[in-house]
Amino acid sequence: MERVQELHDAPLAPLTTFRLGGPATRLLTATTDAEVIDAVREADATGTPLLIIGGGSNLVIGDAGFTGTALRIATKGFELDGTRLELAAGEVWTDAVARTVEAGLAGIECLAGIPGSAGATPIQNVGAYGQEVSATITEVIAYDRAAGETVTLANAECAFSYRHSRFKAEPDRYVVLRVRFELEDAGGLSAPVKYPETARTLGVEAGDRVPAATARETVLKLRAGKGMVLDPEDHDTWSAGSFFTNPILTDEEFAAFHARVAERLGPDAKAPAFPAGEGLTKTSAAWLIDKAGFTKGYGSGPARISTKHTLALTNRGEATTEDLLTLAREVVAGVRDAFGVTLVNEPVTVGVRL
Ligand SMILES: Cc1cc2nc3c(=O)[nH]c(=O)nc-3n(C[C@H](O)[C@H](O)[C@H](O)COP(=O)(O)OP(=O)(O)OC[C@H]3O[C@@H](n4cnc5c(N)ncnc54)[C@H](O)[C@@H]3O)c2cc1C
Repeated sequence: MERVQELHDAPLAPLTTFRLGGPATRLLTATTDAEVIDAVREADATGTPLLIIGGGSNLVIGDAGFTGTALRIATKGFELDGTRLELAAGEVWTDAVARTVEAGLAGIECLAGIPGSAGATPIQNVGAYGQEVSATITEVIAYDRAAGETVTLANAECAFSYRHSRFKAEPDRYVVLRVRFELEDAGGLSAPVKYPETARTLGVEAGDRVPAATARETVLKLRAGKGMVLDPEDHDTWSAGSFFTNPILTDEEFAAFHARVAERLGPDAKAPAFPAGEGLTKTSAAWLIDKAGFTKGYGSGPARISTKHTLALTNRGEATTEDLLTLAREVVAGVRDAFGVTLVNEPVTVGVRL
């Protein structure tokens, strides 16, 4: 095995944006694809549980920590060839976005400010402000632990959907090594602006293009106002971003939900509703949480709802994972009681469940 950095009984909390979770039996940091593959092969050959960590911005690790090998992906690689981009899994995503915008390219400019690594972006099909990586990813190169070899998965093979993918569906199978994107050269302009809030802030119509750099800066500003850009000084950002996904309801579920909304909030009340495919409607988790009575800043303990965004649960500094889960469970139960909808957590839980 190549030489990787190795620590024992290593604290994992500092590797997560929640700053939560106990230690790992062993922590390896791999800086090349070969090191990643060797570490994964060794764990699999010895039947050792394996936890892959990128930027730790979508992870809730239990207070008891992780018994097994935690493998931090710290590989580097940013290759831009015309409109084709290939990123090593360990590249810092938001920095890579900035570089593509500097190069005058469009396609991922509205995904600026999302913390974490490039290699994690396909896992939950990262998205924000009208863009998702599934729109620009052409291929994902991954080590397939079932086959014991490196594979190249085309976009269609990644089974991308809203905050989901084949990688999330089969969590112990693929270790992403590299991600390839096809961006657009629109002469320095952004992709058509899709998200109403971004269009409004930019003073344009949805579908218009603006300079890619302006789109990126606008998104960063909007995100910062919601505590969605990491800032070590600001506890509102000691989070995993949105803690819950937006529920997607069947027509029947939506009708029942609509009736509950009218019952609770009056006949004129309208829940947000967005088409989400044949017979499906997406509603807003933030709206549900707020209307169920969990407003910004909710909580009296060390884990609270962000003061800037209802959807972010945060560590105010002294929280444990159990504190966070207690708050999360309270929110889930409150929303279910109020509206009959069960929220699902977006971050990946390790050694704990909601
Ligand atoms: C302030 C804040 C704002 C956020 N805003 C957004 C947002 O707007 N949109 C959005 O979609 N998300 C958002 N997130 C969530 C998070 O940043 C993304 O999901 C990000 O892609 C996670 O990357 P990471 O490297 O930190 O992954 P980690 O947290 O390290 O890991 C997350 C999961 O991916 C797995 N994983 C990581 N790397 C690999 C790899 N190379 N191969 C295989 N599996 C891997 C891990 O095992 C784990 O299961 C936000 C988080 C924070 C803290």
